Amino acid sequence: MCFYCKCNTTIPSFATHVVTYGMCVILVRNVPCEECEQCGEKYYSDEVMERLEIIVNKAKELASEVFVTDYNKRAA
Ligand SMILES: [Zn+2]
Repeated sequence: MCFYCKCNTTIPSFATHVVTYGMCVILVRNVPCEECEQCGEKYYSDEVMERLEIIVNKAKELASEVFVTDYNKRAA
């Protein structure tokens, strides 16, 4: 269910999650999500959100300008 266009055509997909942190940009590739076929809006499950937070927090410790990581890569 898409909150934007109220359609019911979300399909399992993968996204690149981008976080801007001060001067630094953190990219997490291959994040599993549901994507709306109508408007392209992407949705993450609670489980994915939690894991993303861990990955991003870890990246903030290491990040300089651009930090690229992969969802499937172990954060610690
Ligand atoms: Zn939509």
